[in-house]
Amino acid sequence: MLLARNAGKGAAPDYQRHQPEQTLLYQIIEEYYPEFQASLEANGRTLPRYVQREFEDFLTCGRLEFGFMRVRCEDCKYERLVAFSCKRRGFCPSFGARRMAESAALLVDEVLPQEPMRQWVLSFPFQLRFLFASYPELMGQVLGIVYRTLSTHLIKKAGFTKTAAQTGAVTLIQRFGSALNLNIHFHMLFLDGVYAEDAYGKMRFHRVSAPTIGELSSLAHTLSQRIARFLERKGLLERDAENSYLLLEQSDEDVMAPLHGHSITYRVAIGSQLGRKVMTLQTQPSKSQNSGLERVAKEAGFSLHAGVSAEAHQRDKLEKLCRYISRPAVSEKRLALTTNGKIRYQLKTAYRDGTTHVIFEPLDFIAKLAALVPKPRANLTRFHGVFAPNSKHRVQVTPAKRGKKPDKPEAADTDWLDKTPEERHHAMTWMQRLKRVFNIDIEVCEHCGGHVKVIASIEDPDIIEQILKHLKQKAAKADTNHHTQPPERAPPLTPSLFGPSQTRLFN
Ligand SMILES: [Zn+2]
Ligand SMILES: [Zn+2]
Repeated sequence: MLLARNAGKGAAPDYQRHQPEQTLLYQIIEEYYPEFQASLEANGRTLPRYVQREFEDFLTCGRLEFGFMRVRCEDCKYERLVAFSCKRRGFCPSFGARRMAESAALLVDEVLPQEPMRQWVLSFPFQLRFLFASYPELMGQVLGIVYRTLSTHLIKKAGFTKTAAQTGAVTLIQRFGSALNLNIHFHMLFLDGVYAEDAYGKMRFHRVSAPTIGELSSLAHTLSQRIARFLERKGLLERDAENSYLLLEQSDEDVMAPLHGHSITYRVAIGSQLGRKVMTLQTQPSKSQNSGLERVAKEAGFSLHAGVSAEAHQRDKLEKLCRYISRPAVSEKRLALTTNGKIRYQLKTAYRDGTTHVIFEPLDFIAKLAALVPKPRANLTRFHGVFAPNSKHRVQVTPAKRGKKPDKPEAADTDWLDKTPEERHHAMTWMQRLKRVFNIDIEVCEHCGGHVKVIASIEDPDIIEQILKHLKQKAAKADTNHHTQPPERAPPLTPSLFGPSQTRLFN
């Protein structure tokens, strides 16, 4: 059983201020991931490589032992180390938080114009969630159907035809529900209106009013019908008078399918409780049915919600919304251990029946994390209409004023947010971006206010070890000298430790 490991330890030296290995999530994964793997292997199964890498990289994320950047003040030469992060999209809260900040900043600064925006959220029946987890390419095709349906609605409502006007949307595909369940659903940030060219060839924006409940219901109905027909044509769905069935070929080799299935249906995926409902805690009285004021329609397991919008001038609200929909799957703040060693996770908001927490056996918790890992190359951010990279209007409409790149026909399917900053932006410097993303001001020295520069990236294990050893000795020495330096100040590194041949320098 896990016990708090850091109890009674002295204050950490400054160069290790952030210690991911001290977090509960880290300790749970470190302790139970090997056991989870062993129990799969006992049944002749292994996790796919992409899921293994997610766990392995998580255990190195943010730890100086596995590499870091050296950051130095150009004036006083004060140095700091910034550890690498895992850059994985499944469940790492630390990289997830950076990705969230970066995605939101990018969308607000470079993509979304100063026009009213509305969030449309579409969630799916269990069977479709399962299908999307296994076949991300189908999810992309379904998203195309959803975009066409909603954009046609907006264009008609604005009084135009599809040849005369265009709208646009950015979709962030969220894979999780608040109980760590796999719940693949679409958050679409739609222009709350359309663009049409005026007599001078300039794009003008025409606002439409918020959807009525009647419009939402009819759209939800249309969507469910169109998606069902699409799946029928693909030979994946069979319908009779009462029911519809998904026809999925499943091989026994597929380790992920049962993990996905159990996660989607809130069931235990491993151990003696296999197949039972995940345990929940109800600590609040149940609420009566919804007030009727919510802008949401439900149809055959689909639910379409369009109640949140931001006016053109509400850029902060828009950025908050962008952050909300790109937030990480796991919140460390809501994670706790019960007295008998189970894992308790608090819901973001209580369910209507008063449920406030879910409780997992540790191995089942690992199974739930595994189910949240997206397949490699599954593209989770999509641009449609005027925001599509191949749109001829994008250059006029988006704040970054970037146009189409004819040499990249696949551009519509590439994930902007997964590219390196160098590849996709020119407006912000790398430092400005780091500042926004890491929420640390590494451009200005915290001691003298001088200009700070990233000088190297240290990745060689031998050099890493050498540097950390050196720093520990220095820190110990400073400790016995009764803090001749301010306690939060790391000792400057000796330049002789770093030769250019040993480090990869940033430009
Ligand atoms: Zn300085
Ligand atoms: Zn990470």
